[in-house]
Amino acid sequence: MDLLTANDRPGEYPPSWYAAATPELAPFPPLAGEERADVAIIGGGYTGLSAALHLAERGYPVILLEAHRVGWGASGRNGGQVGSGQRQDQDWLEAAFGRTRARALWELGEEAKATVRELIARHAIACDWRDGIAYLAHKPSHLAAYHAYAERMARDYGYPLQPLDAAGVAGLLGTEAYPGGYLDPGAGHLQPLAFALGLARAASAAGVRIFEQSRVVAIDGTTARTDRGRVVADHLVLAANGYVGGLSREVASRVMPLNNFIIATEPLARPPIPSGIAAADSRFVVNYWRQSPDNRLIFGGGESYGHRFPRDIAARVRRALTRVYPDLADAPVSHAWGGTLAITVDRLPVFRRLGKGVWSASGYSGHGVAMATLAGKLIAEAVAGEAGRFDFMASLPQPTFPGGSLLRAPLLVLAMSWYALRDRL
Ligand SMILES: Cc1cc2nc3c(=O)[nH]c(=O)nc-3n(C[C@H](O)[C@H](O)[C@H](O)COP(=O)(O)OP(=O)(O)OC[C@H]3O[C@@H](n4cnc5c(N)ncnc54)[C@H](O)[C@@H]3O)c2cc1C
Repeated sequence: MDLLTANDRPGEYPPSWYAAATPELAPFPPLAGEERADVAIIGGGYTGLSAALHLAERGYPVILLEAHRVGWGASGRNGGQVGSGQRQDQDWLEAAFGRTRARALWELGEEAKATVRELIARHAIACDWRDGIAYLAHKPSHLAAYHAYAERMARDYGYPLQPLDAAGVAGLLGTEAYPGGYLDPGAGHLQPLAFALGLARAASAAGVRIFEQSRVVAIDGTTARTDRGRVVADHLVLAANGYVGGLSREVASRVMPLNNFIIATEPLARPPIPSGIAAADSRFVVNYWRQSPDNRLIFGGGESYGHRFPRDIAARVRRALTRVYPDLADAPVSHAWGGTLAITVDRLPVFRRLGKGVWSASGYSGHGVAMATLAGKLIAEAVAGEAGRFDFMASLPQPTFPGGSLLRAPLLVLAMSWYALRDRL
C-alpha cells in the first residue's frame, strides 16, 4: 500500500466538492504497448500538465502518463489559494540568499501568479478566479511583524500589502478570532480541479497524448514503464510530487509527503465572507478558507503524516473551523476530503536534473498552485535548451531530510507534532 492507493478508489476522483462541481472530462485511455515521444511526463497535476502544454506549444511531441485521472492528486484537491512570491517570505529569503537572489525568487513567484492568470485567460478556463488573500496573525504578539512586513514590501519591492487590524479582519472575513494581519490584493484564489482539467483540455488540444490509469512502475534513463506498456523518449519529466515513492530516491530524500484536509459546508444562508477574498492564518498547521460561488465555506486545516487519512475528516476539520466561526459550529458539511502535498526541509521547491534529459520539480510546500504551474513552464524551457531559469531554481540548497528515506517520516512526525503542540499551547 502507498499514497497512490491507500485512500481512494483507483481511477476515481476523491469525494471533494470540486469533483462534484466540475464538469467531467472524458477519460483518456490507459497506455498499452510501446509508444515513442520526444518528452514523457509522469504525473498529471499542475507540474506535469503545465510542462506538457508549454512543450506542445513549442512543437514537441509529448506523452503524459497519469496513475489515476488528470488532476487526481494535490492539484485537484487543494485550497485554491494562489499566493505571491515563494512559500518563504522575502525577509527569510534575503537572510538566506542575499538581496539579489531573493529578488529573483520574488520575481519568479510573481511570474508564477501571472502565468496562472494568463493560462486561464488564454484557454478560457472557467475556474472562478477571485482576487485577494488575507494573511492573519493568530497571536497579538505576531501582529507588529505582519505590519512591518507590509510596510517593507511596499518600500523595497513596490508591492502593496494592506495592513489589517481586528476590525479590518472582521469587516473582510466576518471573524473576530484574529487580532489582524494584512491583505494581499494581488494574490487570488480559484477552483483547483477546474483549473487542472482546463490545463488538461488545453494540453490535449495542443496535441499532448494523455494516458490515464497508467501508473509508472519503473524509470530507466528517459524510458518510463507501466504494467502494460512503456514510453521511450528523449526527455523524461518526473512530476509525481508527494507520490514519488520509490521512483527516485534522490527526490524522495528531499521531498516529504504530508496529508492535509478540507471540508465544504452546504450553501450558507448567511455566508460569512462579504468580501469574497480567501484567508490563511499563521498557525504551524495552517487554517485556510474561502467561499465558493454558491456560498459554501471551504475550510482547510489539520495534517497527518502516514499513508492513511483519518476516518472522520469532517470532525477533525470542523474543530478548527469552529474556532474561527463559532456560529458555524453546526453548519452541515456536504463534502470532506484529504490530499497529499509535498514539503521540503526549507519549504522551497526542489528542481533537479536527475540524469541526462531527466527533469524533476516538486515539494512546493503548500505554495504549488502558482509555483507548480511555473515549474512546468521552466521545464519546457529547459527541454528546449534554455535551462537558465530551471538551473537557478535547482541551485537552491535542497537539504535532505534527516534520517534518510527510512527514518525521515517518524522524525518528521515528532518535529511537526511538537510545533503544532506549541501553537495549541
Ligand atoms: C489539501 C491541500 C491543500 C493545498 N492548498 C494549497 C493552496 O491553497 N495553495 C497552494 O498554492 N498550494 C496548495 N496545496 C499544494 C498544491 O496543491 C500542490 O503543490 C500542487 O498541486 C502540486 O502539483 P503537482 O502537479 O506537482 O502534484 P500533484 O497534483 O500531486 O500531481 C501529481 C500527479 O502524479 C501522479 N502520479 C504520481 N506517481 C505516479 C506514477 N508512478 N505514475 C503515474 N502518475 C503518477 C498522481 O496521481 C498525481 O495526479 C495544497 C495541497 C493539498 C493536498
